[in-house]
Amino acid sequence: MAEINNVLLLAGDALIYFVALAALLRARTRIGLGAFFCALGVMHFLETYLASILYIPLPFGVVTSPGSTVLFTGKLMMLLLLYIREDAVVVRQPIYGLLLGNVLLFVLAFVMRHHELVSLAPGRAADFGFLDEMGALMVWGTAILFFDCIIIILLYERSRVWFGDRVFPRLLMSAALVLTFDQAAFFVGLHMLTGAGLGVLVGGWVAKMGAVALYSGLAAVYLIYFERPLRRRGDAPKIWDIFDTLTYRERYEDLLARTGCDALTGALDRHSLEAHGRRAVEHAAAAGRPLALLLVDIDHFKNFNDRFGHAAGDKALKRIALDIMAGARVSDFTYRFGGEEFVVIADGVNVDDALGLGERIRRRVAGASVAEAEARLTVSIGIATCSRDATDYDALFEVADKRLYQAKAAGRNRVIGERPAPGDASVRLIAG
Ligand code: GH3
Ligand code: MG
Ligand code: MG
Repeated sequence: MAEINNVLLLAGDALIYFVALAALLRARTRIGLGAFFCALGVMHFLETYLASILYIPLPFGVVTSPGSTVLFTGKLMMLLLLYIREDAVVVRQPIYGLLLGNVLLFVLAFVMRHHELVSLAPGRAADFGFLDEMGALMVWGTAILFFDCIIIILLYERSRVWFGDRVFPRLLMSAALVLTFDQAAFFVGLHMLTGAGLGVLVGGWVAKMGAVALYSGLAAVYLIYFERPLRRRGDAPKIWDIFDTLTYRERYEDLLARTGCDALTGALDRHSLEAHGRRAVEHAAAAGRPLALLLVDIDHFKNFNDRFGHAAGDKALKRIALDIMAGARVSDFTYRFGGEEFVVIADGVNVDDALGLGERIRRRVAGASVAEAEARLTVSIGIATCSRDATDYDALFEVADKRLYQAKAAGRNRVIGERPAPGDASVRLIAG
């Protein structure tokens, strides 16, 4: 009676294990494979722990450990499912992780025993002997797992010749053969470490074959009914899809950040300015080539936002960025420096051409009609040129910034280049 009870409990263990891990595997398209791998790792630890201490009687005098019957057989089946739905490159990730993790456990247990210990309660002392035994068993077990996985994958592929697309017999045959090999190999290690007898070898094998039959059935059901695409294109998105949407938005922005583009306007971003802009100025100065830096700032943009809202502000910002890029030559680079500030780096452009370029941009922006006809947006532009004003990026930027400020103070919607000195006839100030 107790034996029958144990068989039922084992089947229950296996069912819980399979449903939980299969659910995490199925969720990989939503949350990634990390959750599945972590859960598999925790179960792997429990498996070895149970394999060294917990044995139960089954009918016909069979003795086995739920650790190897439920958890080890289950782990191999989950790895086979992972291979079937992903590929061998993915399967090797948890195998390498488990193997290295086990070696680490061994090493840390070795170092930790050198701590000075205090005893918290009488009779409760750290059992390093047990940890050693378990560590060794885990390293041995995962070394075999490496070969188990290669063999089970090869067998599964090979079995197509005999069984075609019928997954149940393919799973059953591959898992049964591999677990027979594994049972023999693992027993060698277990026998040497714990002195386990031949009864454990046979009992373990019988129990594992039972588990293989159950898991093969569950895995076939999983593959046939749960690995089909859950949602067809055109279906209305569900409320929980918001996490997918957020994830993709983050990835999209991340991609943009890495390509150096600003997500809103499509101009290059500030990070790119720091990298490329600085280098462009250095090269031009070293080569004695002229270079112009234009600092463009939208006039009274805060008022525009306040009157028409931020959404309209964003739209206008995009449009002005396009005006700036359209006004510049193809060889010029436009960066979004701040909220509504842009920098144009024009290599090979002297003072006169830079003023022409600034004026072109200013007119384009002022001439365009925004949707809100009552608000015509304008820009002010400060220009500094290399090597006339400065020969390094920071100094050049400072000069352009000062001139932008002067353009604002002089009434906005204007371009200022060259240093304005009182009575200096060479000052070029273009007012709109
Ligand atoms: P000034 O003519 O002196 O430049 O006036 P201003 O209002 O443009 O100057 P200020 O720098 O004080 O304000 C910039 C405003 O730009 C603040 C903010 O409301 C707006 N802004 C900055 N970034 C964004 C953005 O990404 N979207 C929108 N809609 N507005 C932005
Ligand atoms: Mg500003
Ligand atoms: Mg402004």
